[in-house]
Amino acid sequence: MSNLDRQATPTVCGGRGFVVAEPVRELLSPRRVALGESTEVRRLLPNLGRRMVGAWAFVDHYGPDDIADEPGMQVPPHPHMGLQTVSWLHEGEVLHRDSTGSSEVIRPRQLGLMTSGRAISHSEESPKSHARLLHGAQLWVALPQAHRNVEPHFQHHTDLPRVLGPGLTATVILGTLDGTTSPGSVYSPLVGADLTLTAGAEARLPLEPDFEYAVLSMSGEVHVDGVPVLPGSMLYLGCGRPELPLRASSDAALMLLGGEPFEEELVMWWNFIGRSQQEITEARRDWTEGSRFGEVKGYDGAPLAAPELPPVPLKPRGRVR
Ligand code: MN
Repeated sequence: MSNLDRQATPTVCGGRGFVVAEPVRELLSPRRVALGESTEVRRLLPNLGRRMVGAWAFVDHYGPDDIADEPGMQVPPHPHMGLQTVSWLHEGEVLHRDSTGSSEVIRPRQLGLMTSGRAISHSEESPKSHARLLHGAQLWVALPQAHRNVEPHFQHHTDLPRVLGPGLTATVILGTLDGTTSPGSVYSPLVGADLTLTAGAEARLPLEPDFEYAVLSMSGEVHVDGVPVLPGSMLYLGCGRPELPLRASSDAALMLLGGEPFEEELVMWWNFIGRSQQEITEARRDWTEGSRFGEVKGYDGAPLAAPELPPVPLKPRGRVR
């Protein structure tokens, strides 16, 4: 998925100053963003009050939408730099194509993981023949300095490891949960997991006290550390937690996102993560000139044009607490 915000504003994020060292329960409201003509997504990160959770730097939740008589997701070719994209579906399917030659259909609870490294471009669309419902999340993971120029590549994992508890199935999407590790490539200590709870389930999920965490509710009614989190909302949990109490009053699904606090300060603009305004400006120029980011073959339509850069230079925003 692309950031299609035409008023793309730069975000300065990362750094210790944003991290809450102790357990907190901070409910984040989504911002509604139009994606194309018929689709709307709910953006949880970056959020007015919070930019990152570990290396997780971008979270969009979409659907469930009835797309039986619609084209569904149609995101033309666009570039990425300095990040990984994670496609995670609960309903429907997404056809991913990228400039390394990938062409793969991602289905519910399969991992579509694209590592942009220094440069990649991709498109995402609902296949012509698709399921009635589309429901999922699109997430970005920031790459640390030592790995941000790795060769671009795409991984599709259809059989991910699981951690089981009473009334709980945790699918490890990325990183490690309770000693169980996803096959997806990671470049900093983190975790992404899909938590499916049955009605009445009470579970205590083991966590890494050094990580900061958040949960995104995908569906159902669930209390996270006593806080009801409605579908499409996210609860930031801070650091210092050895475990997380969960209680489901209906069948429910959450995404757990966590990681070591990301120390480097980042500049995020449009679909790029860099370290300076100059890098972002160069990436925008290269995409506009058709260099560096390669070509997506097979997509029926023109690539996305980059929005204008803001006229004022980047200014770091104030700290959160
Ligand atoms: Mn994208």
